[in-house]
Amino acid sequence: MSYNKITKEIVNKLENIVGKEYVSDKVPMRYAYVSKGIMGLESLPAEAIVRPKNKEEIREILMLANENKIPVTPVAGGLSGGFASPLIEPSGILLDLSRMDQILEIDTDARYMVVEPGVRSGTVWAYFRKNYPDWAPPVPDGAPPAATVMGDALERGFSMVTGRYGPQADMILGTEVVVPTGEILYTGSWALPGAKPFYKWGIGPDIGGLFLGAQGTMGVITKAAVKIVPHPHYKTVVVYGMDNPYDMQDATLEVSKYEMGIADHCVMVQGGNYPIAMARWPEDKVPTDFSFWKEMGFTEWWMNFEVWAHSQEEMDFVTGRINEIMKDYEAKTGHSLPEQKLHPKQIASRLKKPNKIAIPYSLWNAGFLFITWYTPWKDCAEFAEIYNEKMVEYGFPPVMWIASIDHCRQAICMPIVCYDATKPGDIDKVQQLNRETTEIFMEKGWVEYRPDPYVHAPMMYSRAKTYHEILKKIRAIWDPNYIMHPGRLAIP
Ligand SMILES: Cc1cc2nc3c(=O)[nH]c(=O)nc-3n(C[C@H](O)[C@H](O)[C@H](O)COP(=O)(O)OP(=O)(O)OC[C@H]3O[C@@H](n4cnc5c(N)ncnc54)[C@H](O)[C@@H]3O)c2cc1C
Repeated sequence: MSYNKITKEIVNKLENIVGKEYVSDKVPMRYAYVSKGIMGLESLPAEAIVRPKNKEEIREILMLANENKIPVTPVAGGLSGGFASPLIEPSGILLDLSRMDQILEIDTDARYMVVEPGVRSGTVWAYFRKNYPDWAPPVPDGAPPAATVMGDALERGFSMVTGRYGPQADMILGTEVVVPTGEILYTGSWALPGAKPFYKWGIGPDIGGLFLGAQGTMGVITKAAVKIVPHPHYKTVVVYGMDNPYDMQDATLEVSKYEMGIADHCVMVQGGNYPIAMARWPEDKVPTDFSFWKEMGFTEWWMNFEVWAHSQEEMDFVTGRINEIMKDYEAKTGHSLPEQKLHPKQIASRLKKPNKIAIPYSLWNAGFLFITWYTPWKDCAEFAEIYNEKMVEYGFPPVMWIASIDHCRQAICMPIVCYDATKPGDIDKVQQLNRETTEIFMEKGWVEYRPDPYVHAPMMYSRAKTYHEILKKIRAIWDPNYIMHPGRLAIP
């Protein structure tokens, strides 16, 4: 595919669509968007930033871009890690959707909310706390409050209730999508004019899934119906320690198989290893030897169970059963899984949403990259072992975070690669580590959460050839010139 550059004439046309103040081709503005995508190693500045207010404007922009073969990259909060920045040159239009920031509807009977793409996690969380305290929007647990609910759902991310409800994409009941040919498409039961978005499988074979995990390549989602969940007021976090990842994996699975009535209360089940704590400080300011952390009461591995319940009795029952299951595991294996009693302040900070727990990784060495994979839960310890060994081999601290998806049906495994962007060769080392581990994991059948265009997508789709070919054909129906976020998902 070849694309065209944005001319002055195109800028004028864009200004006519959205208004002069909402188009910018100024250098500082274009670079400001790149600097926001802190984890996007390959991000490029767009040629023009365009900020539409509604779907009609988006429709006109996409049709103009399609006619003129200009790439378009949609961005909601722009915090998915640089993955909402252009990747090829000419880089085209960055479609900043932050002006579309309305919470359009909340239905506490069918239990969904309808949001525009610019609705931020912090805003929607505060809105529910104030107006619907018995309900919670599924915001991403660790993402900055400026990230959006829509961005997270489109990415198939993990929310604060993922342990119970599955990946964030499972929370989507319907979408409104504008595509480059100018059509406006509705998915789920919304496809039937006049219907409410109450049923995600819609009016026939479901095409909604094509827009989830699409990384901006399939069209622009202008609104989405997202499930909301009960927000009971009895909450706590219980933690168990382990000295190896296999006990973490197996004991957590034991708890999670008690889906009904026990693990259903565990909204967020997440853990990892002691470098998670260590790498939240600058490298030269903290001891890296485990003995220091052990003295402070750390175990090498641990698992947190965040429990939500409707009463103290229900909460005591659930935490009591988790404790019994852990004790049974200890008796069965002879391994020790000490309960780590948290200070009330630690519990309160863990329960604060959206928490900002992930941001301090930048302190270790000024750069960090989440390289996230999905594995069957039963493979997550092996994943951690391989990745940690490789991180040490490449000179990075072995920081590993693992969370349960849908009662440990899957694991989301997230090595956090802390590197120094100012050190010559460090970025190449990150890429080499990424490439080497991806080769290993493809063989094992594990799946990248958000395949990057240089390493994961080409490796993955060169194996899944038929799937990729069909994906391209389907996309060409409504994006014949492949203008949507080219380069992503190895398309074109
Ligand atoms: C410190 C930190 C912590 C994080 N913690 C978490 C976490 O706990 N859980 C988690 O899941 N994620 C986490 N993330 C990743 C990310 O922030 C979230 O997934 C976030 O919600 C993404 O939303 P966004 O608005 O930033 O998306 P964006 O970056 O704007 O977009 C995400 C992708 O979707 C596309 N896109 C955006 N809007 C549209 C649209 N309307 N139509 C079509 N395509 C679109 C973009 O092109 C891009 O490819 C974290 C990131 C950081 C930096």
